[in-house]
Amino acid sequence: PENMTSRIGLCGLAVMGQNLALNIAEKGFSISVFNRSSSKTDATVERAQKEGLGDKLVGFHEMRDFVTSLQKPRCVIILVQAGAPVDSTIASLSEHLEAGDIIIDGGNEWYENTERRSLEVAKKGLLYMGMGVSGGEEGARNGPAMMPGGLPEAYAAIEDIVTKISAQVDDGPCVTHVGPGGAGNFVKMVHNGIEYGDMQLISEAYDILKTVGGLSNEDLAKVFREWNAGELQSYLIEISYLIFEKKDDQTSEGYVLDKILDKTGMKGTGKWTIQQAAELSVAAPTMATALDARFLSGLKTERVAAEELYSSLRPTSDNTPLTDGEKAQLIDDVRQALYASKICSYAQGMNIIRNKGQSMGWNLDLGEIARIWKGGCIIRAGFLDRIKKAYDRDASLASLLVDKEFAEELVSREGAWRRVLTKGAFHTLWSDMQSADSITTTHYNR
Ligand code: NAP
Repeated sequence: PENMTSRIGLCGLAVMGQNLALNIAEKGFSISVFNRSSSKTDATVERAQKEGLGDKLVGFHEMRDFVTSLQKPRCVIILVQAGAPVDSTIASLSEHLEAGDIIIDGGNEWYENTERRSLEVAKKGLLYMGMGVSGGEEGARNGPAMMPGGLPEAYAAIEDIVTKISAQVDDGPCVTHVGPGGAGNFVKMVHNGIEYGDMQLISEAYDILKTVGGLSNEDLAKVFREWNAGELQSYLIEISYLIFEKKDDQTSEGYVLDKILDKTGMKGTGKWTIQQAAELSVAAPTMATALDARFLSGLKTERVAAEELYSSLRPTSDNTPLTDGEKAQLIDDVRQALYASKICSYAQGMNIIRNKGQSMGWNLDLGEIARIWKGGCIIRAGFLDRIKKAYDRDASLASLLVDKEFAEELVSREGAWRRVLTKGAFHTLWSDMQSADSITTTHYNR
């Protein structure tokens, strides 16, 4: 009916927007949707109808009709490409919004853009938030981790919705009011930097087990599956074993993993994280190395040429295969090295957030940030509960590395960690260039 209004609006219906809109409708909130090209609006409406959510979601082809369909104060989530598209979307929205209305940018936006826009729209009496959303397509549909930053009044206006649509863990929904201004975008950016680090560490663990240990894809799947039942339990370890064991269903020969080009690009958040670390003079070697590995992985043609050059210069020698005992030791050592490295990587990420928070006066709660990452997002892991508890013990911890429990864990893994490093170093020295090529590349970072 014409006089019906929606509780919230969502503008931008690509992968993230479409799925988040359906999630919101499914949780019982009426929602209006709009996209620059109307075909995506129609597709979203069609999908909502197919999923039995047609009565909760209504699509519009005109911005004016979309805005006037919303209850006041109007709340609009934007999920368009970060950067200039957000500015032009705000410009056309603002033509129809009124003082007191709220704009929430859910994209991976540079935090300073959010701070600039907050001031700009404030001139018209509009309230603004930058809200990082993690979990990709599936998270958006079924429950992401959300990192909203901005005015508390704006958060209050959407709190009932975001607490329902986010992932739910044992200690609450995976959303919190992160802080003022661009704090939410900043925390999401570092989340992505941590994700880069995690993927690189997993890739290196894979590489050592394969190159030094001689493990097959099936062996690797078994090992990672076991790891996922212990302290390394995480989404990324879980999808790793599913990837290892996935057969190529297009040619029905071999494994998908071995056919994926070892070459990756990036969208920017990982690079921003390292730029920020440098600006703040915070050491972030794990994430910086992960970024370097992505740069190198992108140079596929150059790497192939280098491989030819080096293999013509170096004598090749076959490595003696490991005994079963050595192999078992290597697997256990790599597990411990991976965990120890993960502690270091997260310590770096949390310190970037901590330092930025202090310099901006954001008053961030690091334990709460670790808590909202426990579900929904790509870096979700059992381990994050430990981080939350470390900050519960001491909210002003200078680094996770000086929390007593984490320090004890590092020390107890030090021997294994050093063995992995030396095994890797000596192995590459004597083997042919094939393994050296894969050291800097990853099958993850596509
Ligand atoms: P996207 O590919 O980043 O952007 C496509 C959307 O932006 C389309 O709706 C497109 O409209 C719109 N758009 C582009 N230029 C525009 C302009 N000048 N004016 C108005 N609209 C414009 O979409 P996405 O992958 O769903 O991501 C949305 C945001 O979420 C991004 O900031 C992204 O970084 C972030 N994010 C994505 C993921 C993910 O897994 N994809 C995960 C977390 C966060 P048209 O249809 O008219 O072209």
